[in-house]
Formats: sequence, C-alpha cells, structure tokens
Amino acid sequence: MSETKIAVYPGSFDPLTVGHEDIARRSLKFADRVIIAVAHHPTQYKDRLFSVEERVAMIGECFADDPRIDVAHFSGLLVDFCASRKANIVVRGLRVVSDFEYEFQMALMNRELSPDLEMVFMTPAGEYTFLSASLVREIASLGGDVSRFVSPPVLRRLKERLRM
Ligand code: ADP
Repeated sequence: MSETKIAVYPGSFDPLTVGHEDIARRSLKFADRVIIAVAHHPTQYKDRLFSVEERVAMIGECFADDPRIDVAHFSGLLVDFCASRKANIVVRGLRVVSDFEYEFQMALMNRELSPDLEMVFMTPAGEYTFLSASLVREIASLGGDVSRFVSPPVLRRLKERLRM
C-alpha cells in the first residue's frame, strides 16, 4: 500500500475565509489528509481578532463535513511541526505577485532546514484572489457585510465579537 500523503496548510487564519477553505479542499486532490495549522505569533502579531483556540474551533466547525481535513496549532518551526505529524507537503496560497517574494524566500529556507519537505503553491478560484483575512477583519470591524467571504461558523463569531 502506498504511504499516506499528509499536507500541512499553515497560516494565521484570523479568521478562516472562503479563500482558505478553497485552498484546503483543493489540496485533497494531491494529499490524502490536510492539517490546517494555526501558527502562534507570540509578539509581532498585535492586531489579532480571535485567539488561537477560537480559530481552531471555527476551523473545526467549517470542515466538520470532511474527516480528511484536520486542524491543529503550533508554535516554533513549521518544519518541526511537519516532522511531528509525518507530513512532507506544505501548502501555501498565492494570490497576487506581492505574495510571491516572501513565499519564495520561505520555501527555500524551509528546504534548507528540511530537504524532504515539498512546498506546493496553490491559486484559489478567481473570485477569491482579492480576499485576505486582514481585509475581512477590517470590513467587519467597520460594519460591512462579510457574509460572502466567510462560512457561517466564522460569521457567527464575527457578529458576536463585533456586535454586528
Ligand atoms: P491572510 O491573513 O493573508 O489571509 P494567512 O496567514 O491566514 O493570511 O494565510 C495562510 C495562507 O493562505 C497563505 O499562504 C496565504 O497566501 C493563503 N491565502 C490567504 N487567503 C487566500 C485566498 N483568498 N486565496 C488563496 N490563498 C489564500
């Protein structure tokens, strides 16, 4: 039997958007399991909206329909987290050219740290290329309608948090 292909999809996911969901579900075309890994950012990430625990809970609810998609959180190096889960694929989304430089640098550094890890870059469905978690946070906090950009479990928590 061939080995199970496990992919890790790391990010902040504050909150998960339909663009993230699209990438995670598409990744099942080449991975048997996808672990959405919420990164802890101890210092530099000041404008967070949801705690890591809240993000994990929301992601779990959004993917409750598919047991092949799991959620976890991690601190420390991504390569160490991947090793601990026996994952050798990392998925990242590329939306616009400005994503590229950072992703390219990270990919090469991760390869230095862990030569067996492959980074896979995915493009979302066209209608999601403009979407980012930070835009969703901003629009929601200004009272805008984000119901097209996030799934119901996320929308519910956004409304609670921002008293929309
Ligand atoms: P952001 O705050 O920009 O949404 P995250 O750190 O939560 O960023 O994103 C995790 C990964 O998902 C990154 O690789 C990012 O490029 C990707 N991503 C975010 N939004 C989208 C989208 N709408 N379409 C495709 N990939 C996306």
